[in-house]
Amino acid sequence: MSQSEQLFTRAQKVIPGGVNSPVRAFKGVGGTPLFIEHAEAAYLFDADGKRYIDYVGSWGPMIAGHANAEIIEAVKEAAGRGLSYGAPTGIEVEMAEAIRRIMPSIEMVRMVNSGTEATMSAIRLARGFTGRDNIVKFEGGYHGHGDSLLVKAGSGALTFGEPNSPGVPADLAKHTLTLDYNNPDQVRALFKEQGDSIACIIVEPVSGNMNCVPPISGFLESLREVCDESGALLIFDEVMTGFRVAQGGAQAYYGVKPDLTTLGKIIGGGMPVGAFGGRAEVMKQLAPTGPVYQAGTLSGNPIAMAAGLKTLEIISRNGFYEDLDVKTERMVKGMLKAAEDNGIAMSANRVGAMFGLFFTNEEQVTTYQQVTACDIERFNRFFHGMLAQGVNLAPSAYEAGFVSSAHTDQNIEDTLSAAENVFATLS
Ligand code: PMP
Repeated sequence: MSQSEQLFTRAQKVIPGGVNSPVRAFKGVGGTPLFIEHAEAAYLFDADGKRYIDYVGSWGPMIAGHANAEIIEAVKEAAGRGLSYGAPTGIEVEMAEAIRRIMPSIEMVRMVNSGTEATMSAIRLARGFTGRDNIVKFEGGYHGHGDSLLVKAGSGALTFGEPNSPGVPADLAKHTLTLDYNNPDQVRALFKEQGDSIACIIVEPVSGNMNCVPPISGFLESLREVCDESGALLIFDEVMTGFRVAQGGAQAYYGVKPDLTTLGKIIGGGMPVGAFGGRAEVMKQLAPTGPVYQAGTLSGNPIAMAAGLKTLEIISRNGFYEDLDVKTERMVKGMLKAAEDNGIAMSANRVGAMFGLFFTNEEQVTTYQQVTACDIERFNRFFHGMLAQGVNLAPSAYEAGFVSSAHTDQNIEDTLSAAENVFATLS
């Protein structure tokens, strides 16, 4: 038995499914998950000492590569001064200022400990601010596991066929109205009927939890329009897309300004962090200036702030996104060519350093229905083939892939050679 198999056997006795977050369990693709021993640059090393070129990047945060020396140094330096104070610090002010500089729609921001907390808090704030209960989300959109958001959800919920979780009271779920992503007519029709009952729309501006599906032209604009007309708030969940698809996130990339933005992943540089922010008028409704309650013992944790702030510094350097763009484009184009050369029907989406591969005859995937109609069985064989060749992709056909600044041209070449080998076995 491999070390990973031994650890997984032990883990399943004491941790539900052997994992602390469901998608890690390889349930969708089958087999034993890799137990990781350490990581460096673009590589993961498993408990058996095998090396993998990694396109998961801890599900997004590791945009500057694993164990980035500058980030590790910042964390060590911060740790030497104490792990948590439960009192305000200068570095939190620096973090808030940095976020506002990079994403100007965020006039005020509050730090939390995860993306889930960020979206949960943003929704409470939107409800409190508008005095309305209903929220709108899109099928296949994943916004963490808050009760109101586990309705027709993506990511692991979709992978395991549980997009509506037991345990969410029907009385609450009824306030979550779910529409089709990339269907502006449907959004307009709903708002015409009941726009004045809706507190907010929450959307992944580039959907990343039903694989990677960018917005069609005019979709995000239509959301802005109906919110302006109805008084609902537009929340961009940029937990994944923030600092990923462009430095200023999807809102900069597409030029649509939300009222509130939720952040996570990259903002913590690999430490557990989330944030939500936006218009000052709305954010001032939060306690202690306003009546909407939200709090956190470890929020704004100095170690997490140090890792996140250093990451924001790294991504702000000249050429950072241009370089990522070129690399990701080469990867995706190379994948499409390798698939075509082997007679495998495949389509791809890419926005900045975020990409999705689809085993489908469709030329362009823009809807949830198209994503779920893809050949999942072929994806699973592709996933395991790539893993055997030393390339780690997300263990689900419904997750996006990520390239980091640590991926070298050689890493991309090696990935494409591996893909050629695997495609040859897939027909
Ligand atoms: N929103 C989006 C768009 C996400 O992708 C995720 C996590 N993948 C979350 C929210 C939840 O973040 P967390 O897992 O940190 O709670």
